[in-house]
Amino acid sequence: MAQPSDIDIARAASPRPIAEIAAGLGIPETALQPYGRTKAKLDQAFLASLADRPQGKLVLVTAISPTPAGEGKTTTTVGLGDALSALGHRAAICLREPSLGPCFGMKGGAAGGGYAQVIPMEDINLHFTGDFHAITSAHNLLAALIDNHIHWGNVLGIDPRRVTWRRVMDMNDRALRDIVTSLGGPQNGLPRQSGFDITVASEVMAILCLATDLADLERRLGAIVIGQTYDRRPVHARELGADGAMAVLLAQAVLPNLVQTLEGTPAFVHGGPFANIAHGCNSVIATRAGLGLADIVVTEAGFGADLGAEKFMDIKCRAAGLRPDAAVIVATVRALKMNGGVARGDLGHEDVDAVIRGCANLGRHIENVHSYGVPVVVAINGFTSDTQSEIRAVENFVARHGTRAILCNHWAEGSKGALDLGREVHRLATSGVAQFDPLYPDDMPLLEKIETVATRIYRADEVIVPPRIRGQLAAWEAEGYGHLPVCMAKTQYSFSTDPTRLGAPTGFEVPVREVRLAAGAGFIVVICGDIMTMPGLPRVPAAASIHLDSEGRVEGLF
Ligand code: ADP
Ligand code: MG
Repeated sequence: MAQPSDIDIARAASPRPIAEIAAGLGIPETALQPYGRTKAKLDQAFLASLADRPQGKLVLVTAISPTPAGEGKTTTTVGLGDALSALGHRAAICLREPSLGPCFGMKGGAAGGGYAQVIPMEDINLHFTGDFHAITSAHNLLAALIDNHIHWGNVLGIDPRRVTWRRVMDMNDRALRDIVTSLGGPQNGLPRQSGFDITVASEVMAILCLATDLADLERRLGAIVIGQTYDRRPVHARELGADGAMAVLLAQAVLPNLVQTLEGTPAFVHGGPFANIAHGCNSVIATRAGLGLADIVVTEAGFGADLGAEKFMDIKCRAAGLRPDAAVIVATVRALKMNGGVARGDLGHEDVDAVIRGCANLGRHIENVHSYGVPVVVAINGFTSDTQSEIRAVENFVARHGTRAILCNHWAEGSKGALDLGREVHRLATSGVAQFDPLYPDDMPLLEKIETVATRIYRADEVIVPPRIRGQLAAWEAEGYGHLPVCMAKTQYSFSTDPTRLGAPTGFEVPVREVRLAAGAGFIVVICGDIMTMPGLPRVPAAASIHLDSEGRVEGLF
């Protein structure tokens, strides 16, 4: 019999009161700010008190290059967390908050799947505790202050043609990608071209996720560069007096959200930056809270390991002084087959040779993560269509790469299906073998940082950087931004910048199209390809079939 849908499984669960989940981690009820019965934020004073505690082990869940077949990083993060709990460890998981807009485009949430989910999943996927609305407001406050400043005489001399700060909202709305503001006469301000991005693409989102505390949050907000003056001087948010008010709008949003998995493992679901123009990880504050409260924390980074793990290590861990103890690379037989050249429609048939060809992709990701000094185990996220010979082919390949592949069935069975993975992850994470070292030092020139990621992680022959962009990088170095890490934005489907080159491509160049300074977030965005920061809706959006049933429950969302 087919397994019930994700929403049916989630709805059949009986969540425990959130205070009980918190108590399991030793969090007193007085430290909770409850949002209903099953969600709560941890308060500021309690978070501050965690700083000096012994730290738990940190485990990153990453994946092979994604395909439309689906890999299951979130599902595996949840399944692994539940397995560690079932094995008697004090475990917690840390995930990103999903974006609301895309739920109304394509079907599918981002709270795990099957018997490995975080709940309440409708809330988590939609308004949740309002964090994204607060980020939207803080971002748009700065936008309003910019246009207001120009309207009232423009003392700073902001060049309206060179304002790079756009507006955001949490909706897929292509109509707002490029707009003209302030139409309708002088009382409405000075017309200028601008546009909207989706909230998860906001620099404020990346800032919230990288800030270590409230003071750091406000400092980072003040450091945002919104554009240039007529004489080409950068203009910072603090020059508009925006930082304090933006921090006020974010005071609740910056506190981590606690929920639970279907099996009652505590889950911090907090922050959700894009994984291309931003770093794609949940907040530093939540990860640190987890490490101060649990013995082992499992967290996920977006996309495949070439983007997600690289940014987790080189941006998040570097910025926050975190040291990962182990990494799990999620692979599926289906996705390996696609990486081995099989079309999506043919994934149902056994094809061991294609699996072996696709393993070239997995092998490169294993080598890359090892190069950070972090031990790796491969989780084969089992699908019912996988055959024994296909699974064995992956196990044999991985064994030749000096590690193990472990078949998991948490999607179908919950924690029981991931106990072997849980044991191996716990062994690796507590073995003391990790010797974390980021890919490049802070003081390497920006251009060399880009070349290092492209050649060592993607295995490109060369990086093509036009003179205009070289000049821009040199100018930022002169302005004191040379120590920042680079945040690469390229297709997630390939190691190269061509989404059709699956597997382990060689013999390619990485062209850099554009660079952007995210001075508040603390990285230089390097755009190599077409990157969409305001998605659109498909021809038949999921919204068309979403409604409330007679009891007021959400139908059609997942
Ligand atoms: P990622 O985090 O890598 O984007 P998710 O964990 O969100 O992936 O999973 C994507 C989708 O695939 C979800 O809808 C989930 O229910 C489904 N899925 C995950 N694992 C399995 C599995 N083993 N069998 C069937 N469906 C799965
Ligand atoms: Mg995910």
